[in-house]
Amino acid sequence: MERITWDQYFMAQSHLLALRSTCTRLAVGATIVRDKRIIAGGYNGSIAGGAHCTDEGCYVIDGHCVRTIHAEMNAILQCAKFGVPTEGAEMYVTHFPCLHCCKAIIQSGIRAVYYAQDYKNHPYALELFAQAGVRLVQVPLKTDVFAFLASGGGEA
Ligand SMILES: [Zn+2]
Ligand SMILES: [Zn+2]
Repeated sequence: MERITWDQYFMAQSHLLALRSTCTRLAVGATIVRDKRIIAGGYNGSIAGGAHCTDEGCYVIDGHCVRTIHAEMNAILQCAKFGVPTEGAEMYVTHFPCLHCCKAIIQSGIRAVYYAQDYKNHPYALELFAQAGVRLVQVPLKTDVFAFLASGGGEA
């Protein structure tokens, strides 16, 4: 297998984080990167110490699970909690961010969003990202990344 690209490496990290999700509706992972280094990561789940959707079911209002904090928010809040600047950083996320996360991403000074899958891509989110000059790039995760890991890293 060829050496993994940085884009694939960070996107794989976001997909690994998604495996930690506690919401049964959708598993999302997000990684914040600066100068090719991971500075924070998050997945969608309950607030620390809160009940998990996986244990008690989702708390659905108007078609959305309100129990969880989104992966993008969790990653940004991790930076807030530990005093890590997000200005000029980049985010890798498994799914196209919702409108709330879009606004938080822009406001936190993140300059680029790489997402693997389309997910209800909100036209207003697209408009806001464009307006703010945030680079938006779809980077699908290559499945051979995990196939390679599952193989134990050796020759197939
Ligand atoms: Zn849920
Ligand atoms: Zn969101």
